[in-house]
Amino acid sequence: MEDSNKPVVHLISKPEKMLKTVYTACRTCYSADSPMNIYESTDDEEKMLKLINRVISSGHYSTIEHIQISFAISNVSRACTHQLVRHRHMSFSQKSQRYVKEKGQFDYLIPPTIERDENLKQKFIDFMGKISEVYNEFTEAGIPAEDARAVLPNACATSMVASLNLREMIHLANLRLCTRAQYEIRTLVRMMCEELIKEEEWLRPYLVPKCESLGFCDEDKSCGRKPQLATLQNT
Ligand SMILES: Cc1cc2nc3c(=O)[nH]c(=O)nc-3n(C[C@H](O)[C@H](O)[C@H](O)COP(=O)(O)OP(=O)(O)OC[C@H]3O[C@@H](n4cnc5c(N)ncnc54)[C@H](O)[C@@H]3O)c2cc1C
Repeated sequence: MEDSNKPVVHLISKPEKMLKTVYTACRTCYSADSPMNIYESTDDEEKMLKLINRVISSGHYSTIEHIQISFAISNVSRACTHQLVRHRHMSFSQKSQRYVKEKGQFDYLIPPTIERDENLKQKFIDFMGKISEVYNEFTEAGIPAEDARAVLPNACATSMVASLNLREMIHLANLRLCTRAQYEIRTLVRMMCEELIKEEEWLRPYLVPKCESLGFCDEDKSCGRKPQLATLQNT
């Protein structure tokens, strides 16, 4: 059963031959052979992965920009999607609060820190109820949804189709899987990564928090998973 307080994430589109496409892009840079011959070659997975890893580690990221991936995302808060849309190389189509009028009690997400305290949780639910009453009063009085939405909270549930290329996917994972990222976007991005890894296992080593690829933590406040940069510089 789906957790009503967790994002719902589905991978809806990706290239069928993702590994082969990335390999072809990488190999084309260093080969006299044509891209099509490389694409149709029978090179084994180990050879392809070795080259891809070398090219990505050297920072030749254009090779992974050929891969476009789309996710269907729902049951996330507006606070969460507001953070996601800061990623400028992503494309979004989000449920509109102008064209889709809320009816009855709008859906919302309760942050786990509030949910685990019964008293605070009840206050939160009551407050959402009050907001809903005011919103409905406004829309019933003829205020357009695009203005009535001004009273809706960050907790309001939303849905979107989000697309990005593989370079941005790795960047997104590096930033948002870090424990310094807020819990909801961290959960969402982890689920996006898991969906993709289910189909493309070879991506697992790349879809990691940035400290895993850097080898150190560059944040001021560290979770301790890796040594902090400042500590390394002082040794
Ligand atoms: C833990 C955490 C805390 C945060 N806190 C805040 C906060 O308090 N306030 C706040 O406003 N934001 C905050 N952010 C958002 C953050 O500042 C970025 O806007 C967001 O993470 C997108 O990252 P990005 O710019 O690297 O990625 P993208 O927009 O996805 O871009 C990817 C990369 O493309 C390049 N790029 C994109 N656009 C440009 C450009 N115009 N010029 C040059 N290079 C470009 C950069 O190399 C960039 O890293 C936070 C993010 C995190 C992860």
